[in-house]
Amino acid sequence: MEERCLCEPNEIIIFSCAGSSNVGQIANQAAIKLAQGGVGRYFCLAGIGGHVSGMIESTKAGKMLIAIDGCPVACGKKTLEHCGFNIDEYVQVTDLGIEKNHHFDLDPMHVGKVADHLAARISKRRGG
Ligand code: SF4
Repeated sequence: MEERCLCEPNEIIIFSCAGSSNVGQIANQAAIKLAQGGVGRYFCLAGIGGHVSGMIESTKAGKMLIAIDGCPVACGKKTLEHCGFNIDEYVQVTDLGIEKNHHFDLDPMHVGKVADHLAARISKRRGG
């Protein structure tokens, strides 16, 4: 059985790849939506990639790590794992049936789909 996380939203840290494609930007917008909805805090993935010590330490202090990648290249996951972090919940936008393109014409329904998917997974982990 999966262990429940007794963490508070401010201890839930969200990263997105924020990549230069529709799915990368959907990942970014979904992370923003989760943060605005009080689900967790959205941190800068570039700070992890850049080994910025304060950001590494703040991330270590978190109790649940969430990562959103746009596509199977999985840049966010690889960046976090490269720095030794274990991801608790992870999704690739393309796994939710959203096709990658470089038009940047984001569909708000797609953003909602990714955010809702993760909010449900996080809630389940917290025993909700
Ligand atoms: S995971 Fe995909 S969308 Fe995200 S930065 Fe990498 S290549 Fe771009």
